[in-house]
Formats: sequence, structure tokens, C-alpha cells
Amino acid sequence: MPQYRVGWLLPISQPPIRDAWLRTDRGRIVAFGHSRPGDFTPSDEVDLGHVAVLPGLVNAHTHLELSWMRGRIPEADDFVAWLRAVIALSRTTEQQGGEVPLAIAGAVDEARRFGTALIGDVSNTLATTEVLVERDMPAVVFHELLGFPADKAAAVAARGEAMVEKAIGSDQVTHTLSAHAPYSVSPALFGAIRTALQRTPFARSSVHLGESAAEVEFLCDGTGPFRALLDDLGTWDPSWVAPDCDPVQYLDRMGFLDARLLVVHGVQFRPAELERLVARGATLVTCPRGNIRTGAGTPPIAEFFESGARIAVGTDSLASVPDLNVFAEVAEMRRLAPDVPARLLLECATVNGASALGFERDFGVIEAGKRDRLIAVETEGMVPNIEEYLVSGIDAAQITWLSSTTNRQ
Ligand SMILES: [Zn+2]
Repeated sequence: MPQYRVGWLLPISQPPIRDAWLRTDRGRIVAFGHSRPGDFTPSDEVDLGHVAVLPGLVNAHTHLELSWMRGRIPEADDFVAWLRAVIALSRTTEQQGGEVPLAIAGAVDEARRFGTALIGDVSNTLATTEVLVERDMPAVVFHELLGFPADKAAAVAARGEAMVEKAIGSDQVTHTLSAHAPYSVSPALFGAIRTALQRTPFARSSVHLGESAAEVEFLCDGTGPFRALLDDLGTWDPSWVAPDCDPVQYLDRMGFLDARLLVVHGVQFRPAELERLVARGATLVTCPRGNIRTGAGTPPIAEFFESGARIAVGTDSLASVPDLNVFAEVAEMRRLAPDVPARLLLECATVNGASALGFERDFGVIEAGKRDRLIAVETEGMVPNIEEYLVSGIDAAQITWLSSTTNRQ
């Protein structure tokens, strides 16, 4: 039951506390406050010095099973060309053999080194479950379904539901169904996923939406690079009618937008789409570094915040980014939207992600009763504005997990 003394404490649910103390017990936060001169110092107090202690971060969107692709997909300026490269490489998965599970395990360890306490993991195979459980990394595993031909929807959904039911998670690693994207999921499959989700009222779901200009074009009139891709893959369905509306409206018409949904990317969203997202209570998950590298474009971060949407942040997969550093995504958001207060950017990487994933009971803020999965970030002396410092880019070498600092004593 140690007590820590720290330079800065960031509860997130209240302003940062300079010169703070924090007490934990049996994996939970007990109490914390400001240290005043002359305060009683308990004999078990551990002085961590110039560090900022904050909740372990939430990576709300990644694909751990693609970790073996790190460094193998070149940056692109055309999203569909990038996607074609991923599809081509994924067809060689079998040749990768044992590399795939090893890369998943390495990625989970890497996420932890970068200060991640909770992951929103999108998986087609559910190969990540075992590793997440084994490595004690809390996560929501979104079992992602794809299928553009409408006549396959019922079978794809039934198979997906059966896989989720069979998956052996834990109370910290849960499973749910998600849809890939409007250009790869038929309206019938969106409907089947929605029906399945209605049977599990607290389950979250996720979808890639408004990622590229090609997606907007495809939904407008059914043409463009996605139509060509579906033709090439042999999955084009001639019975599909282009909805002639924006991506958010398309999902809303199908009843897929609600407060449980994580809408990932939104690079192409305009104010009316953001307004509709806010009205439905969905969370917008931004992955800015990946968006730029895949050729999807630059996400309008300032507009996201102006809309009042709940915003979380993810790294996306190692197919598109060099590492799983959530602090680097936050720094990218800061670069793209310098006027957004640092406090709001830190909320995206903590409390907003935890709520979006349904783990707000345990993660996202420093409050009595929450889990003590907290990180201590070394700060090179006493910095004047700790929130600004933390959104300026933090590397793994600066991060220590609070529980492991006691073991070192
Ligand atoms: Zn993704």
C-alpha cells in the first residue's frame, strides 16, 4: 500500500496538481492530493521526483493482427492504392507462419511500453485474444466482418456471431461485432450486425467511415476506385444501389449510428456529418498519423473539436504507422490543430477512449476506486505547463508504470 510523491499528477477529471501525493492499495487508487510543506510523510512514501503521473492511455483503434506488416507497406498518396497493397500482402499471411502471433505479442508489449493501458483492437481472425489475455492487456476486441455481396450477409453474420460467442476472453478482454466500411459491407450485413448487437445492449461496435475521398465518391454514385477494386476482387454486387448521400447519413439511414458506435477516421467529414454524429452520441476516433501515410488525407482536427463530438484517438495498425505510440498521435493532433487546448487532447487519449470502449469504471481518470494502471512520464525538471509538455511528443524511454516503480525500490 505505497504512497507516491510526484512532481505533477493529472487526474484528467480535474486540473493537474503540482507537488502531489497518491496512495494505491491492492491495484486500486485510494486517495491523492496536493502535498503541503510540513505535511506528514508516511514511512512508505516513494518520491518519484520530476514525473507526471497520469492514467494509462487508451488506444481506441488498432489492428494488432496486422503487426507483422510493419514497414512492409509503403506510404501512399492514394488510399485505395494503399489498401490494394495491404490486400496483396495479406494474401501471403500463410507464408509468414509463426511471425504473425510473434508480431502480435511484440505489439502488445510495445503498446505497454508507450503507456497504453487499454486497447480497442479490430480483428478479423480473433488471433489477438489469447495474447491480450495472456499479457493481461485490457481490450475490446472488435470482430470485424466484411462482405459486399448481399446474398452472403446472413452467413457472414452467423459465422461472426458464433466466433464471438466461442472466443475465450476474460472480464478485461471482451468481444463484440463490428463492420469494416461502407465499401466492403452490404446494407444487409450492416443490418445483420445491428440485429446481433441489439441482443447485447452494452456491447460497443466500430466502423471505418469517411476515410477517403474515394469512399465519398463511391457512396455518391457507385463509381471510382472502390468500384474498380470490388470488380477486381470479384465481390461487386450489381444489386447494390448507390445511396447518393454522405457516409454518416448512409449509416444513419440503416440505423447503425448510436452512442455505442466508434466511428473511425472521419477525414472527409463536413460540419453536417459531425453534427449528425453528435446527435447520435457516437464517438469519433481519429488516427491522424495513419491517415496521412495511407493517402486518406489530413483529418480536420479543429473541426472535430468545434463540433462538440466525443473524440478518442488510435494509432491504427502497424501497416500504416511506425509504432503504437498514442502520445505521438496526440502530438500529431496538436500539430494539426494548435489552438485546441492540450487538456482536450489528453482527454481523447484517456477518459474519452475509456468511455468509448465501455471501461470507464476502471480506466481513463485518476479517482479513488479506479485501477492503478497509471504511468509516470519523466519531465526533465519541473516544466511550467505539464499539459503542453505531454502533448508535445513523449517517447517510451520517458515512461514507467507506477506499479513497477515500487518493485524497483
Ligand atoms: Zn483501422
